[in-house]
Amino acid sequence: MKKCILFFLLLLITISEYSHLIAQNVRGSEMPTLVIHGGAGTILKENLTSQEEQAYHDKLKEALNAGYEILNVGGTSEEAVITAIMIMEDSPLFNAGKGAVFTNEGTNEMDASIMNGGNGSAGAIAGVKTIKNPILAAQAVKNNSDHVMLSGAGAEKFAKDQNLDLVDPSYFFTESRKQQLKKLQKAEKSKEEGSIQKWNDYKYGTVGAVALDKNGNICAATSTGGMTNKKYGRIGDSPVIGAGTFANKICGVSATGHGEYFIRNVVAYDIAAKMEYKKVSLGAAAEEVILDKLKAIGGSGGVIALDAKGNISMTFNTPGMYRGYIQKESKPMTFIYKQEY
Ligand code: ASP
Repeated sequence: MKKCILFFLLLLITISEYSHLIAQNVRGSEMPTLVIHGGAGTILKENLTSQEEQAYHDKLKEALNAGYEILNVGGTSEEAVITAIMIMEDSPLFNAGKGAVFTNEGTNEMDASIMNGGNGSAGAIAGVKTIKNPILAAQAVKNNSDHVMLSGAGAEKFAKDQNLDLVDPSYFFTESRKQQLKKLQKAEKSKEEGSIQKWNDYKYGTVGAVALDKNGNICAATSTGGMTNKKYGRIGDSPVIGAGTFANKICGVSATGHGEYFIRNVVAYDIAAKMEYKKVSLGAAAEEVILDKLKAIGGSGGVIALDAKGNISMTFNTPGMYRGYIQKESKPMTFIYKQEY
């Protein structure tokens, strides 16, 4: 009897422990395929109005349709992810480009990266304040330099030499992100645990895209403003190849979440490595990394990923992740919360 009760209790604990864990796997149909995210975090229905929900769905769909149009006419996965990400960078809804979160000093400092799985080339920029579309600078580093990652003033000089659009830092300002910074700083000052947690939750909102084109090439890219109230030139996982972004001939991954955990666990590469060395499926690899490994150490966030057959995984251990995908001859499918499919 005692054993029975113990078993039942353990079962209950396991169920409640895993109730936030979502692995949304979609079986691949055919190429081409595009999957995107707009950040993971404490995204709860009670915190979004129906108009806000609609705005997110519309913007995700716009990004999916634009990227897919390129794939459909034989464009490359690199062109598709750049197009999808630029639409989200230009939207104040997401923590990337316009709408990026604020640093402790009240500035916006952005990071981005891209990796082409077809030829293994990669590029990234970190801590930039004046590049209108950070993902274009990451792509320029990849295609037009001998380097993989450029940072700060040097990255901005490079972007200028590449004739990319530079803007006044005030371009990135949004009132809602400014308020998030104020509220988080106030909570931290008064050391109110619950309040710090609440405003910390608004740190997320990175954007990412992974595409598989008609030639079977995979490309992954990620762009972010990082985490609200970040200090001392902190750089997260998004521009770190292998942590926030990775692509090879087997799969492509873009991550979002608490960057320090994603860097320490080399999340994007870990998923690709599990597929290559353990011969597990994309879904199983993503679940092991996000739902088991990361969750066990308190690393919150998620990934979008696809493999060479067009199988998709959108796996996260937070209450929500803005996300969506589009595949051959189908409409764009978009989701926000965990219980939505
Ligand atoms: N991963 C990003 C960072 O740590 C934040 C996010 O995904 O929202 O900078």
